Amino acid sequence: MESETRPNLLGLSRANLRTLFTELGEKPFRAEQILKWIHQRGVLDLDAMTDISKVLRERLRESTVISLPRVVQDFPSEDGSRKWIIEVASGSRVEMVFIPEAGRGTLCVSSQAGCSLDCSFCATGKQGFNSNLTSAEIIGQLWWANKELGGFSGTATDSGGTRVSNVVMMGMGEPLLNFDNVMEAIDLMMDDCAYGLSKRKVTISTSGVVPAIERLKDFTDASLAISLHAPNDELRSKIMPINRRYPIAQLLAAVRTYMESLPDRRVPVIEYTLIKGVNDHRQHARELAELLRDFPCKINLIPFNPFALSDYRRPSASAISNFRQILQQAGYTVTVRTTRADDIGAACGQLVGEVADLTRRHDRHIRKTAEKAGKVFDTTDNLAVAADRLE
Ligand code: SAH
Ligand code: SF4
Repeated sequence: MESETRPNLLGLSRANLRTLFTELGEKPFRAEQILKWIHQRGVLDLDAMTDISKVLRERLRESTVISLPRVVQDFPSEDGSRKWIIEVASGSRVEMVFIPEAGRGTLCVSSQAGCSLDCSFCATGKQGFNSNLTSAEIIGQLWWANKELGGFSGTATDSGGTRVSNVVMMGMGEPLLNFDNVMEAIDLMMDDCAYGLSKRKVTISTSGVVPAIERLKDFTDASLAISLHAPNDELRSKIMPINRRYPIAQLLAAVRTYMESLPDRRVPVIEYTLIKGVNDHRQHARELAELLRDFPCKINLIPFNPFALSDYRRPSASAISNFRQILQQAGYTVTVRTTRADDIGAACGQLVGEVADLTRRHDRHIRKTAEKAGKVFDTTDNLAVAADRLE
């Protein structure tokens, strides 16, 4: 089958839609009309777009498509969370998770099928990498969740935690390694003619792709979460290979510059997954407090979520509480992420989807694990999402 080359209107930002209409010899304001139809009213059928002339609709039908990624499974969780699996153009399957809480609903969105960065504690990383999601595949996740949760029909956002009020780029993949597509999708998330989410309610989570963080301020003013997970380079390099390339000092400097470029006073969230016997000692907490002493931030502790390909374990409740206390006593605002949706494999770092791995990493991990413990990876034993106290 020939692959589709016509632009997908679902994934085009206002600026790119305006360019498209100008190229078609049309008035650029058509962009706003299309945005509202697709992203506010949830309409994907050109024929239903009644304020657009028949002639123009016909031209759009010939030269563009409006195509949503296919949703192949829907898992409701006992705690009200929901996970959907979507199939993307590469044939891989990725996951997104909705987490309702009092007063807000957070959608955890994927940016890549798999991830090339191979952090030792992450199920997605162990899947290897297959492909970048297109901007339509990224924004399509929000479109779908909105549709399923009754978020279309006039009001852009809401309300009581039953609809999407916040988006975190914390699903599968490293968003800053799919820079252009992620930027275009979050532009739509924050556009008043589309979803109109505030910059405080759209969060990019990154493992620390420093050159991309340095470019970020020219493209967005979204909020930032940094996956730090260790208080020094030696340990961080062991559990996050990206640290060998971009060590902590460079990472924190780039984040500081980005935060200072924002007109409002916002601080990044430092994410720290607590893994038993690896990075959860009191001494690590003290070292972390020292490392971040002059670095305005909030800290979010994530108790490790287990999955089949990992021997890591979650620390005890008292170890987590001790770690938190040390940081609080040093003056930090610290939250501990409560595990949600683990009955549907949708807790942080459990997200795996089905990724046709191009790196062969997945096979290596399976072999290694099988050699060690005779375990076999089970794809139902997957996922995990993040969403939580990120304001
Ligand atoms: N690639 C990005 C975003 C996706 S991961 C990043 O690394 O930031 C989203 C968050 O879940 C990250 O903070 C990640 O470190 C964390 N995470 C990954 N695996 C986890 C696990 N098994 N248990 C708990 N948190 C995990
Ligand atoms: Fe990739 Fe993030 Fe998982 Fe690391 S934690 S492997 S960067 S998805």
